[in-house]
Amino acid sequence: MVFKCQEDSFLKKFGSIVKSCKPAEVLIDGKTNKCFEVVLEDTIIFPEGGGQPSDIGYIDQRKVLKMVRKGADAVHFIDEPMEEGKNVSLEIDWDIRFDHMQQHSAQHLISAKLQQMYKFPTTSWSLNKDDTMVEFDITSIPKIDLNTLMLQLELAVNEKIKNNEPVKVKLFEPGDPGLEKAVTRGLPADHTGPIRVVAMVGDENMCCGTHVDTLGQLQMIKIVSIAPVKKKVQLRFVAGDRVLKDFNVRLARERNLSKLLQNGANDHETVVFNLLKSSKTLEKNLKDCSLEVAALMAEDVKRQDPPPKFVCVHRKEDAVGFARVFLSGVGADIVKLLTWGDEKGAGQMIFEGPEEVVKELGSKICEILGGKGAARGTRFQGAVSMLKNKDKAIQLLNEHFELVQK
Ligand SMILES: [Zn+2]
Repeated sequence: MVFKCQEDSFLKKFGSIVKSCKPAEVLIDGKTNKCFEVVLEDTIIFPEGGGQPSDIGYIDQRKVLKMVRKGADAVHFIDEPMEEGKNVSLEIDWDIRFDHMQQHSAQHLISAKLQQMYKFPTTSWSLNKDDTMVEFDITSIPKIDLNTLMLQLELAVNEKIKNNEPVKVKLFEPGDPGLEKAVTRGLPADHTGPIRVVAMVGDENMCCGTHVDTLGQLQMIKIVSIAPVKKKVQLRFVAGDRVLKDFNVRLARERNLSKLLQNGANDHETVVFNLLKSSKTLEKNLKDCSLEVAALMAEDVKRQDPPPKFVCVHRKEDAVGFARVFLSGVGADIVKLLTWGDEKGAGQMIFEGPEEVVKELGSKICEILGGKGAARGTRFQGAVSMLKNKDKAIQLLNEHFELVQK
């Protein structure tokens, strides 16, 4: 079955007749919806297939919830029953459909040029919300420079667009020798009827999708990234109207960056490079200061006479280095509770002291601070989620050392 949308991909409105309608259930966004399964004599609402998503479409202005192809039928899931034999009018969201046509035809063009220029077969593709991905096998030239490939390929496909070369759809009966030239990744198991072949730039591909008539309708293809993934390569591109949208998003980002950096776009790289360099220096200085503070604070504890029963210290910044210097500096006989992180939220704790105290109080303190951890000899360490309860932990230590009444 060749649906009307495949016969004339530019049809935006169409009249058809209800062939059958029966109650059904359909899963949308993980939710089961009770609805009706409507089959029409023909349809312009494309049911998902060949990597192209379904259209957004309407029957008598009622939105079609989901479209699927079952054998020779396109099944429309709709929330109201429709009388068999009724004449209905169909409409599609043309902006979405044309976007799908541009991305899908662009994918065929990219795959064709990858094969013709480098003998790289396409192994999969996907049409996504922001871009379209083409995955290909580079076994024939494994050491190819991907940036050079990207530039060469981009020039080649845009040259074909500039020349406005035609896109033809041919129909073949199964077994027709004309099909031998066509590239295929296999037909669906329930396929019936003639086989469609989409031909452009000397490439023929079995495909059920809707396509543009001429490559000029693609306007432009821009490859936005190319990267090896496992043993293959994935490139991402935008075509047609998406090129302008993508360009505008990038320009807005650039303008925002210019405001933040208080500099023109041409200087962004230099400014960011210098900022990163100075932030590394600052980070190192901060670490050095933190270690000096840890040593001074430990000295201060050691100087106290009589020595305190316990000390509690909280640091906002990451305190791994601080902990090493402070805890060893204070001495093993004094109980120490060191915490760091968001004062009202999550962070880390180390509780250190004589083994019997750590064993008795470590897990209790950790629990108060909303965490889990384990005692190891003279140290209890753990991740915590409620540093706002620090005062309660200090209260427990005060009670333990009988500094206050329980
Ligand atoms: Zn296709």
